[in-house]
Amino acid sequence: MKIAVLSRNPRLYSTRRLVEAGTERGHEMVVIDTLRAYMNIASHKPQIHYRGRPLEGFDAVIPRIGASVTFYGCAVLRQFEMMGVFPLNESVAIARSRDKLRSLQLLSRRGIGLPVTGFAHSPDDIPDLIQMVNGAPLVIKVLEGTQGIGVVLCETEKAAESVIEAFMSLKQDIMVQEYIKEAGGADIRCFVVGEKVIAAMKRQAKPGEFRSNLHRGGSASLIKITPEERMTAIRAAKVMGLHVAGVDLLRSNHGPLVMEVNSSPGLEGIETTTNKDVASIIIQYLEKNGGPNLTRTRGKG
Ligand code: ADP
Repeated sequence: MKIAVLSRNPRLYSTRRLVEAGTERGHEMVVIDTLRAYMNIASHKPQIHYRGRPLEGFDAVIPRIGASVTFYGCAVLRQFEMMGVFPLNESVAIARSRDKLRSLQLLSRRGIGLPVTGFAHSPDDIPDLIQMVNGAPLVIKVLEGTQGIGVVLCETEKAAESVIEAFMSLKQDIMVQEYIKEAGGADIRCFVVGEKVIAAMKRQAKPGEFRSNLHRGGSASLIKITPEERMTAIRAAKVMGLHVAGVDLLRSNHGPLVMEVNSSPGLEGIETTTNKDVASIIIQYLEKNGGPNLTRTRGKG
């Protein structure tokens, strides 16, 4: 197959591993810098140009679209879909997953366990918003945050009120969430490929920290997940319409709670922790399911 990897940087671990695994399995792998792809959207025959030439003959495309380039990246991916190229994850699913509130609303509609979460716009509604999530301690999250930045634990309601007011005055959209204390500063990353959890790891926050992000000093280890956790991760990816997803779970007293569904999950942490060849599993998924004109939406949606 001829497979495009949409990525800003060929040297990133995930991009490198996907190219390596694809090449090993006999495919032609081409890394395309998402922001350097350009297109004529009014043409009858959709095309993408890259460094002065049209991109042609691709069977599949692997989007590795960073949060900061979601808008343009999804447009490029959509153009590939209009050309009949099979996407590992479809543009509509990626765009959906990047909207944190919309994602939680979709997941809750399907009865998937979530931490109690509130969202408001006006400072006048803060006291009731705090009561909605059962008071302090609670977690406040900036909607656009990544890698744990903008995630704040407030031990008291007074502190929560002040922090929410501060974010609102800075015009930052936030959500307020019950604090799952019993998770003990740990979360579980389930790596889903085609309705299977193919690898899972536990991330533990460093002492004195509740955020388990590796970027915040957390450490990763192997974990055996329960059948309920497995089922929850698979269902969450499916509700979001993602073939490949990193589903983050918190272990609560009343079962697994989904924190986030990531549409471009990184490979480095999961491969080094579990010793699994995740990149190769992704390529095998494309071999089995990819091919021209097999995309479900062809960019509609
Ligand atoms: P980001 O997307 O920036 O990584 P997350 O929402 O994943 O932000 O939060 C970062 C970390 O904080 C999580 O990995 C988890 O360890 C911890 N955390 C987030 N929300 C909660 C919560 N409601 N209860 C307990 N811990 C949480």
